[in-house]
Amino acid sequence: MRIAVLSETDPAEPRVAAVPETVKKYKALGAEVTVQSGAGLKAGVPDAEYEAAGASIAPDAKAAADGADIVLRVRRPAAEELPALKRGAIVIAIMDPYGHEAEVKAMADAGVSAIAMELMPRITRAQVMDVLSSQANLAGYRAVVDGAAVYGRALPMMMTAAGTVPAARIFVMGAGVAGLQAIATARRMGAVVTATDVRPAAKEQVESLGAKFVAVEDDEFKQAETAGGYAKEMSAEYKKKQAELVASHIAKQDIVVTTALIPGRPAPKLVTADMVAAMRPGSVLVDLAVERGGNVEGVKADEVVETEKGVKIVGYANVPGRLAATSSSLYARNLYAFVETLVDKTSKALAVKWDDELVKATCLTRDGAVVHPNFQPKAA
Ligand code: NAD
Repeated sequence: MRIAVLSETDPAEPRVAAVPETVKKYKALGAEVTVQSGAGLKAGVPDAEYEAAGASIAPDAKAAADGADIVLRVRRPAAEELPALKRGAIVIAIMDPYGHEAEVKAMADAGVSAIAMELMPRITRAQVMDVLSSQANLAGYRAVVDGAAVYGRALPMMMTAAGTVPAARIFVMGAGVAGLQAIATARRMGAVVTATDVRPAAKEQVESLGAKFVAVEDDEFKQAETAGGYAKEMSAEYKKKQAELVASHIAKQDIVVTTALIPGRPAPKLVTADMVAAMRPGSVLVDLAVERGGNVEGVKADEVVETEKGVKIVGYANVPGRLAATSSSLYARNLYAFVETLVDKTSKALAVKWDDELVKATCLTRDGAVVHPNFQPKAA
C-alpha cells in the first residue's frame, strides 16, 4: 500500500495533509509514504522531518503520486494534476463539492475515488475524523485573536496605578464549534462575552462557558433544531424580531465575531450596514463566514475594511490556515483516523468497505462515475 502526500497548489493554502506523527502511524499500518518535496514547509514541517519519520521525498507531484493507492491533500486536486494519479487511487481531501460539480465529474473521469472529508457524518464513531470541527475550533480561537489584534484597546479589565481600564464586550453570533471556541477564548482573554444562535441547544452550551445568551426565545426558536443538530433557515418574521434585538445589542459591543452558517446555503446576513454604522468608532467585526458570502454587510475576503465611522470589518479567508502548524496537525490526525478504517490490520492491505456508512457518506466518485447521491446530474 502506497500513500502520497501532495503539496497544495493553491498559494492561499498553507496547510498540509500529513505531519511526521501521522507518517509514523501510516508506516506502522504497513504503508509506504511518499511526500512531495516542500509540502509541509508553510506548516513548519521541512522534508527532513518527514524523512526522519520514515517517508521518502519525491521531487514533484507526479513522482510523489506515481503508483499511489491513497493520495492525501487538504484541497481537491486541480484538473491538471489528475492525469498523474493512478486509476482507482483514493484521493482524500476537503473537496468543497457544492457548486463545483464539474470538478467532481473531472475526478470521476480520471477514475479516482474522491473522498470528501467534510461530508463525514457527525456520529460518535466519526468524531475523530471530523475535519469541520477540528478546523472550526481553531478558526474560532483565531477570530478572537485577530479581532483583538486590530482592536485598539485591551480586552481584560485592568486596574492600574494610572486608573482602571474596562473589559471589552465581545458578542459571538453563531454558537457552533467555532463560536463556542470563540466564546471560550474571549472569556480567557478577559472580555465580557455574550452570544446568540438559532439552535435552542446552544443556549445551555453558551451559558456553560460563562457567557450570556441573547436571542428571541419564542416557539419557533424552541422548535428550530433539526435532527442532525444543524441550524435550519428561520422564518422572515423570526429574522426580523431577532435582527431588532441584535441591532440594539451590537451597538454596545466592542468586538463582534460572526460564525453563522447553514449547511449547503449561502451564509445568512446577520449584520447590516446600518448595524455596523451604529457601532462605536474603533469597534471591530470579525466575519468567519466570509468564504460563504459573509454574515456582515460590507465584509471583503482577505481584507480589513475600515468604514467611514472607523469600524473595522475583518474578513480573513481560510482562518484555520492562519494557524497552519496546528490546523495541519489536527487535520492530519483526522485523515489518519479515517484511513485506518480502510486498511485490513492483519494483511496490512487496503480493504475498503464501500458500503460502510462513513465511506458511503463521503465518497463522491468511484469507478469512473459520480456516486454520491447529492451530486447526481440533474434530470433534464
Ligand atoms: P455551522 O458551522 O454549520 O454553523 C455555525 C453556527 O451558526 C451553528 O451553531 C448554527 O446554528 C448557527 N447559525 C446559523 N444561522 C444562524 C443565525 N441566523 N443566527 C445565529 N446563529 C446561526 O455549525 P457547526 O459548528 O458545524 O455545529 C453545528 C452543530 O453540530 C452543533 O450542534 C454542534 O454541537 C454539532 N456538532 C456535532 C458533532 C458530533 O456529534 N460529532 C460534531 C461537531 C458539531
